[in-house]
Amino acid sequence: CTPRGPKVREENILVTVRVRPLNPREQAAYDLIAWDVTDEQTIVSRNLNHERPTGPYTFDRVFDPTCSTYKVYKEGARDVALSALNGINATIFAYGQTSSGKTFTMRGITENAVKDIYEHIKSTPERDFVLRLSALEIYNETVVDLLNRESDPLRLLDDPEKGTIVEKLIEEVVNDGQHLRHLIGICEAQRQVGETALNDKSSRSHQIIRLNLVDLAGSERASQTNADGTRLKEGSHINRSLLTLSTVIRKLSGGKRNIHIPYRDSKLTRILQPSLGGNARTAIICTMSPALSHVEQSRNTLSFATSAK
Ligand code: ADP
Ligand code: MG
Repeated sequence: CTPRGPKVREENILVTVRVRPLNPREQAAYDLIAWDVTDEQTIVSRNLNHERPTGPYTFDRVFDPTCSTYKVYKEGARDVALSALNGINATIFAYGQTSSGKTFTMRGITENAVKDIYEHIKSTPERDFVLRLSALEIYNETVVDLLNRESDPLRLLDDPEKGTIVEKLIEEVVNDGQHLRHLIGICEAQRQVGETALNDKSSRSHQIIRLNLVDLAGSERASQTNADGTRLKEGSHINRSLLTLSTVIRKLSGGKRNIHIPYRDSKLTRILQPSLGGNARTAIICTMSPALSHVEQSRNTLSFATSAK
């Protein structure tokens, strides 16, 4: 992993890319590495199998497969996470196809952010912090409370002052780091119950822990076309929340004033609205496989990342 380069810019949306190592399955299949991280901010495709070369693409940071999650946190998420302590709506999410490393990355980010936040709270005893945790999952536009086993699907309500609120969502007051880890453990267990009941669920659902730390559905669900470029006949394959999120991010980062931002078109964007526009900072970590067999999906991810800059 190359050493730290120039300081990342302090803008509202921080966009980074993380390339994971080849996984054992890809190695066993003699899959080839299709991308080169040429410096800390640049990635370009290799010229393999007469593939059309793509890139170079530049971002705030590009993390090569040897980079630790700690480095990804420190340079791609930390400033945004800590801005939450100054009353700024902070959102960190991982975007990428299924198996590209979103959950792996977000777990590490959550762990590091929690540690940093507690250290900060301890070092500023003159300020009183109340830390509350809520966690929810959106699956097929149904919202479920991850802190409440008995939860029925939750409704979204429009509050004239607070905007969209999730009705009856539990907000646990967190006492200390150990308590927080315990609560996060409950959320993980809840997600696993769902996963065994419904195979492949994690690739289709978004999990949100309010800071906001967002583990998105696999980005292949945002694509309206199959790998061979043909359009899907059934709309049900498309993840509405993910597609709307892409549109919202693209419009926000376009910087045009007075344009319509379609927050209301999906539950994910309704819930995240206060965190995406206004007094907000967002870190987007785009995760991708280095493998030639995934080159098409990785290109889609890099296009999303480019449109978010
Ligand atoms: P996703 O949530 O995007 O579907 P996962 O985070 O579950 O993907 O990752 C798929 C697999 O790859 C997991 O076994 C995970 O441990 C592994 N993995 C992902 N990213 C990395 C990484 N940077 N280094 C090592 N292993 C990784
Ligand atoms: Mg996952």
